[in-house]
Amino acid sequence: MGESTEQMQPKKAFGWAARDSSGVLSPFTFSRRATGEKDVTFKVLYCGICHSDLHFIKNEWEKDWASSYPLVPGHEIVGVVTEVGGKVEKFKVGDKVGVGCFVGSCHSCDNCASNLESYCPKLILTYGSIYYDGTTTYGGYSDIMVTDEHFVVSIPDNLPLDCGAPLLCAGITVYSPLRYFGLDKPGMHVGVVGLGGLGHVAVKFAKAMGVKVTVISTSPNKKKEAIEHLGAHSFLVSRNQDELQAAMGTLDGIIDTVSASHPLLPLIGLLKTNGKLVLVGVPDKPLELPVFSLLMGRKIVAGSATGGLKETQEMINFAAKHNITADIEVIPIDYVNIAMERLSKADVRYRFVIDIGNTLKSST
Ligand code: NAP
Ligand code: ZN
Ligand code: ZN
Repeated sequence: MGESTEQMQPKKAFGWAARDSSGVLSPFTFSRRATGEKDVTFKVLYCGICHSDLHFIKNEWEKDWASSYPLVPGHEIVGVVTEVGGKVEKFKVGDKVGVGCFVGSCHSCDNCASNLESYCPKLILTYGSIYYDGTTTYGGYSDIMVTDEHFVVSIPDNLPLDCGAPLLCAGITVYSPLRYFGLDKPGMHVGVVGLGGLGHVAVKFAKAMGVKVTVISTSPNKKKEAIEHLGAHSFLVSRNQDELQAAMGTLDGIIDTVSASHPLLPLIGLLKTNGKLVLVGVPDKPLELPVFSLLMGRKIVAGSATGGLKETQEMINFAAKHNITADIEVIPIDYVNIAMERLSKADVRYRFVIDIGNTLKSST
């Protein structure tokens, strides 16, 4: 006999959802499952706004990953544990925790066995996916989360929750390729393309690893801050041919965080022989790959998607140790649609974070 929704999902939840590909978010009452044996339930305090949330609410990745509505976004979620299941080992009530881009995986494939859950073919995203029990997952623009402890990370006491939240996606998405592609060796020279949410934390992580960083940006007005405040070694305006020309063949690697179509040829030109261009930004249309420029210099173009749970915890601990947090603009939930509009124009220094704890209130 099938269970009713109320039996399966007895926890009342409240959040903001997009109802269609206009992407407009509005209040949404829904429910979540009871705390299972291995689940951690927590009160959400802050949630970052990732550009992926914007892609998803507008169904911009329709061909690869279609959005389903209502869609409650949010995968840079932090909060405080309110309840744990009987078999939870790592967390207790009162702990500070975070959840990133996914909340389930198969636990048996080669990727899962190698702590690379983000590459599991049965990956369950934090929002807009179907969970094991057949219900839809909803993200962190909401008051509570119920998450299998395997997908929950512990937030160290000295890491502030508001500016720590973006590390759950932006942080791990840039930390993982810096490590995996060996772009983390002191003295190396790495480029970061796009100084947004991901880009600015990439600068901070690379710097903490002892790497020299060049920012490649479309926004000349970000130069002063990138150098003086974020500590970038140099700053190239990507539309300035002279600047690009002068920097040809100087970079060991590049982390490309750009969210829209853009030419790869100038970036490949900036790489040294054997240099690596790692794409983490996800434009909605395919990019052109100029093969000749790759051959001449044995260069590599690669991709990377967030990171596994073990590495996410490692990244959070590294951030806490090196005082790495995001530069944020904290907003109330009812500003979220304006924030999305501004994010689409790269008008944020450098991450919006929603103050869920103080501003998300159900009217019922
Ligand atoms: P963001 O804050 O909007 O930053 C993107 C930056 O890209 C902008 O600040 C801007 O920097 C630059 N940019 C924007 N439009 C551009 C254009 N038309 N041409 C050239 N540069 C442009 O976004 P984000 O949250 O960092 O996310 C960036 C991308 O990564 C998104 O596509 C997102 O979906 C993706 N993402 C991927 C993963 C993954 O696992 N691989 C995880 C999270 C996010 P400047 O002003 O400096 O040019
Ligand atoms: Zn994200
Ligand atoms: Zn798996």
